[in-house]
Amino acid sequence: MAYAVVFLHRRRRLKTRQPTMALATVACLCVRAAWGGDIHDAVLSRDGQRVGALLADDPRLVDCTDNKGRTPLHLAAFRGDRDIVELLIARGAKRGSRDRTGRMPSDAAGVRGHDHLLDILVENQTVKVSDHLYQITLSYGLRPNTVVSIGSDGVLAVDTGHDRVARELARAVHAVGKGRPTHVINTHMHHDHVGGNAVLAEGATLINHSTLEQCVAEGVIRKGERPLRGKSGRVFDTWYSMRFNGEEVRLIHSPGAHSGGDLIVHFTSSGVVHMGDLLLSQSFPSVGEHVPEYREILDTVIDVFPPDTVFVSGHGRFSQLQDLHDYRAMLLKTIGAVNQQIKAGKSVEQMQQEDVLGEWESWGDFLRFLNTDNWIRAIYDSYANETASIPPPGA
Ligand SMILES: [Zn+2]
Repeated sequence: MAYAVVFLHRRRRLKTRQPTMALATVACLCVRAAWGGDIHDAVLSRDGQRVGALLADDPRLVDCTDNKGRTPLHLAAFRGDRDIVELLIARGAKRGSRDRTGRMPSDAAGVRGHDHLLDILVENQTVKVSDHLYQITLSYGLRPNTVVSIGSDGVLAVDTGHDRVARELARAVHAVGKGRPTHVINTHMHHDHVGGNAVLAEGATLINHSTLEQCVAEGVIRKGERPLRGKSGRVFDTWYSMRFNGEEVRLIHSPGAHSGGDLIVHFTSSGVVHMGDLLLSQSFPSVGEHVPEYREILDTVIDVFPPDTVFVSGHGRFSQLQDLHDYRAMLLKTIGAVNQQIKAGKSVEQMQQEDVLGEWESWGDFLRFLNTDNWIRAIYDSYANETASIPPPGA
């Protein structure tokens, strides 16, 4: 119970609440730390025997947390102690537990360079999306999503994740594809989407925006014959298509919002679209001062893809078309709320301090750096100097 109380007391709320409430929180933390303190101390002392004895006495201790939300597995991973990590996992420790900063035990190991622990700390979640498409997500870092197409033409992987867990991802791909990727598409060039190329794209045909022309020249992919149009009237600058495993795969270049070189990958017969980081289904967008451009892209995506399409997010869960409509509605409400404050003359810092997006705070839980403070800054940088383009609240 104390854990729940602590978790609910988020950073910003403490900023504005009375000191007496903050003291109550500290008291709760002390109660919690005292309960789990022994096993945390035993882990830090590398005393595996005592860890085992404490768990035999009270199995619930295996996932108890200290005042930073860290489980014994977090500390063992941080220390690089494989014996204790294996002991805790054998006793049921949750590998996906997140501390108060959002880190999992695998992240704690990665931060300290304990790569020898990642094979047992990283969990692989593989979901079948269609009869030959799979989504693979590893419990590490920003948890990027990889889509794999399996069939007679080979194994096509869209995005290769973080470099530190490339071998774990290759194993997960092999488990469904019975082989290594023959083709790799990168939605964009950020490290959490191309980091595994050295392992997964070794010997494969690599396709990304910067190399598309080369792929065309080599006959690996061909240019499309007509552009897509959205209701906004914008035309995608370039798109390419390739046939692979019995369906047309379209690579749609959608620049100007996230990285400048983003591809949307459409598996046409399967009705599956990998959006890369142009969709963060559980987070505010990561688009800096390009919020208007992102709204254009999202509007176009909602307009052009059929209603039964499954949208794979760069990070986070799948979306259906209705989810995108809901996501768009959330964006417009938050943009409207911030723009109202801009019109009233508020600075970014004032809006952050006043927590003007407090109602939407949970959108910052999945990727902690994309929190309401960050989103306020993005909206401000996008609209503050263009008052004429400010949409009415909730438009
Ligand atoms: Zn990115």
